[in-house]
Amino acid sequence: MMTSREIRNAFLNFFRDKNHQTVPSAPMVVKGDPTLMFTNAGMNQFKDWFLGNEPALYQRVADTQKCLRVSGKHNDLEEVGLDTYHHTMFEMLGNWSFGDYFKQEAIDWAWEFLVEKMGISEDRLYATVFEGSSEDKLSRDDEAFEIWANHLPEDRILNGNKKDNFWEMGDSGPCGPCSEIHIDLRSDEEREKVPGRELVNKDNPLVIEIWNLVFIQFNRKANGSLENLPSKNVDTGMGFERLCMVLQGVTSNYDTDIFQDTIKKIASISGIKYGAGHKTDVAMRVIADHLRAVSFAIAEGQLPSNNKAGYVIRRILRRAVRYGYTFLNFRDPVIYRLVDVLKDTMGDAFPELISQQQLVERVIKEEEESFLRTLATGIGLLDEMMEKTKKAGEKAIDGKDVFTLYDTFGFPLDLTSLIARESGLGIDEKGFAKEMEAQKKRSRNAAAQETHDWVEVRKNESTVFLGYDKLEAEVRIARYRKVTKSKRSFYQLVFDQTPFYGESGGQIGDTGIIENDGEKIVIFDTQKENNLIVHLTEKLPSIPEAIFYAKVDLQKRTATANNHTATHLLHAALRQVLGSHVEQKGSLVNADHLRFDFSHFRKMTDEEIEAVERIVNAKIRENSLLEENRAMPIDDARKMGAMMLFGEKYGESVRVVKFGESVELCGGTHVSATGQIGLFKIVSESAIAAGVRRIEAITAAHAESYVNDQIKTLKSIQDILKGPKDILAGIAGILSENVVLVKQIEAFNLERLKILKANLKSKILFENGVNIISEKVELDNAMIKDLAFQLKNEIENLFLVLGTENKGKPGLTVMISESLVQERELNAGKIVREAGKAIKGGGGGQPFYATAGGKDLSGLEAAMEKALSFL
Ligand code: ATP
Ligand code: MG
Repeated sequence: MMTSREIRNAFLNFFRDKNHQTVPSAPMVVKGDPTLMFTNAGMNQFKDWFLGNEPALYQRVADTQKCLRVSGKHNDLEEVGLDTYHHTMFEMLGNWSFGDYFKQEAIDWAWEFLVEKMGISEDRLYATVFEGSSEDKLSRDDEAFEIWANHLPEDRILNGNKKDNFWEMGDSGPCGPCSEIHIDLRSDEEREKVPGRELVNKDNPLVIEIWNLVFIQFNRKANGSLENLPSKNVDTGMGFERLCMVLQGVTSNYDTDIFQDTIKKIASISGIKYGAGHKTDVAMRVIADHLRAVSFAIAEGQLPSNNKAGYVIRRILRRAVRYGYTFLNFRDPVIYRLVDVLKDTMGDAFPELISQQQLVERVIKEEEESFLRTLATGIGLLDEMMEKTKKAGEKAIDGKDVFTLYDTFGFPLDLTSLIARESGLGIDEKGFAKEMEAQKKRSRNAAAQETHDWVEVRKNESTVFLGYDKLEAEVRIARYRKVTKSKRSFYQLVFDQTPFYGESGGQIGDTGIIENDGEKIVIFDTQKENNLIVHLTEKLPSIPEAIFYAKVDLQKRTATANNHTATHLLHAALRQVLGSHVEQKGSLVNADHLRFDFSHFRKMTDEEIEAVERIVNAKIRENSLLEENRAMPIDDARKMGAMMLFGEKYGESVRVVKFGESVELCGGTHVSATGQIGLFKIVSESAIAAGVRRIEAITAAHAESYVNDQIKTLKSIQDILKGPKDILAGIAGILSENVVLVKQIEAFNLERLKILKANLKSKILFENGVNIISEKVELDNAMIKDLAFQLKNEIENLFLVLGTENKGKPGLTVMISESLVQERELNAGKIVREAGKAIKGGGGGQPFYATAGGKDLSGLEAAMEKALSFL
């Protein structure tokens, strides 16, 4: 039997023999494409080639691509674990033709690989072809049918509808008819009873699609219509895990060697056998699957977080924790303990799992711990809700409450309903659904964006970026389009060449202007969509065909370059001071500051921070020149020891940026010599996740004014202290003097209290068996309380009213002996509330002691009178 490793290699070798270039998987987390969060198919990394944004580097390509289908057009999340053949993260094997071969070879080779090389029995295979669509004015794909008819009997070639047999990446973009290969894995007996052709595309777990051959020949436009692409392409995708299932003779992806060790470990930790029950099986599959998605994401540098891709990853992990919690009784973190098994299974094909293992484990463990705590808090809250429901005599927990649990505490509906059921309650699912819909609508409205089609002004293969050498240049518009987002419209312009840097690699995009005799237009941002540089403007030039002079905002670019180069120096210094485990996990560079996230497991000490600053500033003073190689073969760059990041997509030829010992692969804009940075200053160091630290720093003028501000503060302190030579000694002196003074004041106050008390006692009015004191005093609140309690202890049958003035505000205190409270039904709380009205205030307390604070000092006498009147 072939192992999964051998199967992967067999596929790549087969196509290598057919002159396909093998390329590495692109990262699973997509960077630099605002329309896509995660790679959801093998073709994503070739989008620019399909769209003609840039020429294809190879005409034939094969690879295995890490895909994640948990959001957007392809979202399988809710299926995963419940069935045995959909994953969140999976490998998609693919072969491509860019303007080279088409349907004939694609189908013949697929057949050759599956049947002749892998030995799958022909009579289990079915093919589908696109039946056509009147909506798109497309007829049936007879061409594909004829080719299939050379391999399969006609009754095993089926027509498929647009949903199954017309592949689209998103709402717009490259697409085309496709032809799927399905396999029937049922027993001979079952196959006798019901022919497989009746089960194709019917969600039968044993009659499934394994390979999809897509013939990409159209581009879907914003208005839904199709246009022909410049060249015809082939894009195929085969589920690697499904292929392994077929070739290893099992009937579930989870029974292949890809998942077996993980499942075994989960079973041993839980003490429950895989196969013992439906629910526990599902939970084990969910965990085994999600482990992969989350580990790969973190290894690529995408940490779980509260927004965007990070939030999706967090939710996947939480789904796994929750299944473990509910069905396998996991109360402590478990998933991080599986990373080691995953590394053993997949580490040789994906070495990032080996190098990032420690980080992946730490991050997952911390996430698990924090979510388990949330689960506990949520369960406490749910208890209260159930109590409330029962008290109200209701049978179902309010939908709004259930939604709060879901939204604020990440509490899934099925968990809530499970716990409710254990207490004999249901949940108001309709109410929940309503809240959910309302929330979805809110976020839809917030995210809604309407992108119009490109308007082509002139033919252009790809934009030449001039910005490494020039900040000004003559440009022509190649194409433009309108975008409307939250009611605001703007334009995206693509030039034939441009000095503007498009936001990428953590560096923000350039701003500036384009102008000619007729007009001047502001570029308020420059972005990158894959390799396309897009300039954003509020308005469209009145003559798009005209020639423009483009000018980048020099000041902003210079400040940004300072921060970008400083980031490289910082990276190298961190590795020098802390060790080579330091790796970049995130970076932001703009004109104001730089932010650098990196793996390191402890808080940096003050000494370490100082050492890093010292090294960076020394490098700045060395004034190292930029040594740049814009097109170095990636292997040479590796040999040079250039820093490369996982999760970054590097081509065969890369740009290397070197300043002294710092060597990085980088597309950003830099200073020409480090001396320009002037000064580097770290302003904060903090944690952003388990094992990931963040440094924020500033350079040049910003650093200078930061240092000056600090010095100014020191000077003002010195002035306040009346200019001692040694400020520290001055402050220490004041502090110790202060301690002495505080003690003196305390002693003095005690003395004052004694005198005041004696004075008050001498003024007691005895009436009807009550000792009445009513006086105005000037004391702070703590002392008044002290005084009132002392008097109460020393005088029987006391009715005490104290009016106070504290920092210009009136206050009222009433203290009544307990005996009086009982006998005469007096209540100090009620009294101060009533009497407090006279000073425009409120308050309260207990029946024997209460206070009120107010705003109107002139009413103090009246308030005291009023209080007395209750006697
Ligand atoms: P299905 O109908 O089974 O969900 P699909 O039509 O979504 O498949 P494609 O988008 O054509 O699949 O993807 C190509 C191949 O990738 C499929 O033939 C299948 O083998 C595999 N595949 C698709 N989705 C998944 C998934 N969630 N997990 C594992 N493999 C998948
Ligand atoms: Mg699908």
